[in-house]
Amino acid sequence: MKLVKTFGRSAKAAAALIEKIEQRGAVSTAKVEPVVRRILADVRKGGDAALMRYAAKFDGLTKGGALLVSREEMRAAWEATAPELQAAMMVARGNILAFAEAQLPKEWAFEPADGVKTGQIVRPLGSVGCYVPGGRYPLPSTLLMTVTPAQVAGVERIVVCSPKPAKETMAAAWLAGVTEFYRVGGAQAIAAMAYGTETVGRVDKIVGPGNLFVTAAKTIVSSECGIDMPAGPTEIVVTSETGDAAGIAADLVAQAEHDPEALAVLITSNAALAEAVLGEVKAQAKGSAIAKQSLAAQGCIFVTATVADARELTNRLAPEHLTVDSAADLKWIRNAGSVFVGAYAPQSMGDYVSGPNHVLPTGRVGRVRGGLSVADFVKVITVQEYTRKGLRKMGPHAIALAEAEGLVGHAESVRVRMR
Ligand code: NAD
Repeated sequence: MKLVKTFGRSAKAAAALIEKIEQRGAVSTAKVEPVVRRILADVRKGGDAALMRYAAKFDGLTKGGALLVSREEMRAAWEATAPELQAAMMVARGNILAFAEAQLPKEWAFEPADGVKTGQIVRPLGSVGCYVPGGRYPLPSTLLMTVTPAQVAGVERIVVCSPKPAKETMAAAWLAGVTEFYRVGGAQAIAAMAYGTETVGRVDKIVGPGNLFVTAAKTIVSSECGIDMPAGPTEIVVTSETGDAAGIAADLVAQAEHDPEALAVLITSNAALAEAVLGEVKAQAKGSAIAKQSLAAQGCIFVTATVADARELTNRLAPEHLTVDSAADLKWIRNAGSVFVGAYAPQSMGDYVSGPNHVLPTGRVGRVRGGLSVADFVKVITVQEYTRKGLRKMGPHAIALAEAEGLVGHAESVRVRMR
């Protein structure tokens, strides 16, 4: 992990590093794009046969192995799950469900003028595909985070894809009542859900996180199939002046252990805190080869000249996860996927049980949206209704605008009803 001052003699080096971090999303997926494009094209053309070939190559699906995970397998996995884990999954699901219900967009209508009624109705998507990563670690938590809000939204067909699903992931699927679960991962799973194969019917939208291959594939298919966002290798920024070094280091190491591509950053104007965290990270990362790898490649501590500089840099990086010292910090935060407040809110709580979604935007997409939510699974459809009186009142304005644009047919369609 590098420690870099953003002012004084190292200002130029720091600026170059910040620029590199800002570009991270585009640069990292570009390096896998050629192979991903080939996989997408192969599955589009070859259907199940190509899908099985890639599942065998990357995830060890044996010849004759079934793509579909049966309900019976899910039930057996749930029954074989330790009671403490079952209880944890049930608590997590309950909190995710309650949070999603609170987030559901509401239907409403109002009358901007007498005889004119405008409003919105909310309708679920018809079908979604939930990608649940399974390359390095099984992520049953991601199954709950993607499937649960889709159910709250009322999505009729929910498909899950995960490579070599662990029994914990199948158990979570049983708990959530999943009925369509395929053991495929990577770009080939995204291709199957976006284009369809003989076995996997295509979906309206694909959601969920994944590694660079998955993220690049989602971005490419997005011209034909809805996607939530790029939710790639995890990122953490801690912006702190008064935090506890051991706790901060633990959060940095925890997110860094996800992936060699993970990004872990501390931003502070407190040089003593920076040194203390650096020491703690070295000690705490010892047990994890992946954390050591990602911290060595991408990990950094920025020491800024002022607190204001630290805040500005944080907003520039638009991190997926952001930890700050206290609720007073919320007022300066403009860009982040999800915020963790105070010394007792480790990011892992958000990964598992708090309720807010852990599928979050990476690669600076935090500038334009927050995490996955129930709103990703519905359409907000606008409605307008006029009485004769309402049209008489508003119609002339529409006619004036239509004539200014030279669209005489538009003007006439109003006029004909006003006569
Ligand atoms: P994964 O399921 O995303 O990827 C595994 C798949 O990658 C394999 O099935 C294979 O098809 C493909 N693959 C691997 N090597 C390949 C190669 N050389 N060529 C083509 N395809 C290849 O699982 P993972 O690798 O463990 O990654 C999970 C990722 O999800 C991590 O980066 C983690 O940080 C991220 N994550 C992000 C969020 C978020 O919200 N942003 C949340 C959870 C996890």
